[in-house]
Amino acid sequence: MDKRPDYKTIEIEIRDLWFNKRKDLFRFDISKDPKYVIDTPPPFTSGEAHMGHALGFVWMDFIARFKRLEGYNVYFPLGFDCHGLPTERKVENKLRIKREDKIRFLEASREWTLKSIESMYNTFLRLGCSFDLYKVYKTMDKKYEALVQYTLIKMFNEGLVYRGKKPVMWCPKCKTAISMQEAGYIEREGILAYIKLKLENKFVLIATTRPEMISSCVGVFIANREYVETEDSLIVSRVFAEKNNLKIKRIIKPEELNGRELEIPLIKRKVKIYVDENVDYNFGTGIVWVCTYGDFMDIEWREKYKLQEIICINEEGRIVNSLGELNGLTVEEARKKVLDLLKDYLYRVEKINHNVLTHTERQDCLSSLELIPKEQFFIKTLELKEKLIEWQREIKFYPEEMRNRLINWIESMDQDWNISRTKLIWGLAFPFFKKDGRIHPVEMEDLPFDPRRDKEKVEKYRKKYGNVEFFEDEVLDVWIESSITPIAIIYYALTEGLEDLKEIKKYFEESIKYLPVDLRQQGYEIIRTWLYDTLFRVKVLTGRLPWREALINGMVLAEDGRKMSKSLGNSVDPNEVMDKYSPDALRYWALMASYGDDYRFTWKDIETGQSFMIKLWNIARYVYLNCREVKFKDKPKELEEEDVKILDSLRDIINKSLELMKEYKFQEYLKVWRKFVWEDFANGYLERVKERVRNKDIKALWTLKYVLRVILSFLHPAFPYITEKIYREIYKEEEKKDSILETKFSEIFMEKFLNNYK
Ligand SMILES: [Zn+2]
Repeated sequence: MDKRPDYKTIEIEIRDLWFNKRKDLFRFDISKDPKYVIDTPPPFTSGEAHMGHALGFVWMDFIARFKRLEGYNVYFPLGFDCHGLPTERKVENKLRIKREDKIRFLEASREWTLKSIESMYNTFLRLGCSFDLYKVYKTMDKKYEALVQYTLIKMFNEGLVYRGKKPVMWCPKCKTAISMQEAGYIEREGILAYIKLKLENKFVLIATTRPEMISSCVGVFIANREYVETEDSLIVSRVFAEKNNLKIKRIIKPEELNGRELEIPLIKRKVKIYVDENVDYNFGTGIVWVCTYGDFMDIEWREKYKLQEIICINEEGRIVNSLGELNGLTVEEARKKVLDLLKDYLYRVEKINHNVLTHTERQDCLSSLELIPKEQFFIKTLELKEKLIEWQREIKFYPEEMRNRLINWIESMDQDWNISRTKLIWGLAFPFFKKDGRIHPVEMEDLPFDPRRDKEKVEKYRKKYGNVEFFEDEVLDVWIESSITPIAIIYYALTEGLEDLKEIKKYFEESIKYLPVDLRQQGYEIIRTWLYDTLFRVKVLTGRLPWREALINGMVLAEDGRKMSKSLGNSVDPNEVMDKYSPDALRYWALMASYGDDYRFTWKDIETGQSFMIKLWNIARYVYLNCREVKFKDKPKELEEEDVKILDSLRDIINKSLELMKEYKFQEYLKVWRKFVWEDFANGYLERVKERVRNKDIKALWTLKYVLRVILSFLHPAFPYITEKIYREIYKEEEKKDSILETKFSEIFMEKFLNNYK
């Protein structure tokens, strides 16, 4: 053994062992029990592996290796989430491929994705992740696509998928509809315009943040509370009058206003007044107008009162069907312009900060969203709300608080799941067609189906059914694809080596038997998307839970305490850390995080990790130089008291760490072992027995060699490179194994060796 560990050489040698020579070490055999299956997050194929990936994958690899050493047949799959808008943007902007040629665009996207995967893949392997490389899946595989379409058709046949025209959240910048999970509210500066609507010789004063939507006003709503007429002939809530010191002429009961007609200024159209319990009496004047569609309340009111629908904003986010002066303007431009036009009817305009519905899932978009009615595919999720609350109870969460994020999300759902992404290209096509206004699924033998590409299949349907319509301008929400990963990983295990599979149903049904799998690991920021979607889809499709346990990590923060991100310029590339230090040092940092919490990256943690590796190496080298020749079978009949003592504390540590791992407490696990290795063993026992070692005292030599052997097994899940290397230097020959992973904890356990000395 070298005096100092040469990390570069170690990494190359051990990686070659794991991922070339003995790739089979990590191969999962679905027929072997006991199994331990992890539903790993398929990273989006951005081309860059980041610290967030490193954190999650190291956690899972720790668990995978630990479970293998416990004797489990472990499945640690690797997948890639391929489709989506970010790739589409790159193909369009960087490769300059025109969107019009969809076939070429799809091919270019596929190539781009393959390249991206290659660079990410290498980083993941460098981290030492013990993936089963025989079953790597990509959501753009034909096999995967066919499975996703199969599950969608299955849900369709069960009446859970429908097509309907509904206002959807539309991003004018991305030019697509998005789902609730992709949207959020962001506080922005805006205005509150008070506009006077004529009611005979008086004015009803409404307050709105969206005056530019004037032409789509279809009703005025008041609360079932007291209103007043002021001396200036304004009708407002009593609260508003009092707050603004307006002289009250008389009280008006809501019944008096209900059903009356008002004239919208400029537009000169008449609309009615409605009384509704959902009007916020304390907001503005307590009177609002309803525009189709300014917000979600408008959707509800329009349905409830059967109001007209007048659309005044198009997909580009520009005004249509409005006054000549406003048509063609952007929403922001129109908002300014309309205030000029309205000046005779404007009571006042206030600057306010309010929450604006925004495309929050894309940090590079953050555009405000519009509600535009579109014909789209939906999945019925609302009617299963209560069941979802019930189902999640059976899953164990680490940490338990994370469950609330899921529950809050489920409870807040107020729309079915819109799964159409209009105008996107790089996505999975809908396996449906429309004939005589009705939706039909394509035949199973045609899966995977893409009407843009599979012209022969399309022709077949045209011949058979005449005039049929396919959905060439819509692709599936990407979460539809990733929300079946627990099924897909089993499916891939059952069909290893089979491509372009036709017996989808058979293997799908076979997969169900293996659910729920053991663990889902993921970040908290995708609880309301990936975790929720998977729970929903898998349970509905199979009747079974997706997993028994969910382990949730926080976000990775940069040294400056902000979220680590490329755009903030504070991100660190995992490869940089591994080049400067070692994969094991990076793993040390990752494993010192506690679940659920945001976690800061610091170079200091990396250094601490690295110095621990060096300590371990020095201990090993001492054992190598002095105890190599001692065989385990030559264990002495009796040990000295200090030998027994170190073995006793070793046993305590083992028991403690087995307990900690039941709850995935890596951080405490490592602390316990670090203290034992550094203080009890290296600085304590090893120093004390140096004299005995010089005298070739077999009891001391045997104990040293044994304790290190146990340490290697228990530290292997955390620091696989250095422990594997040391194992191969000192123990490989005697144990006749290539890798420490071919051994089990139970084979080196105390019961076998230590109890004899009690
Ligand atoms: Zn957007």
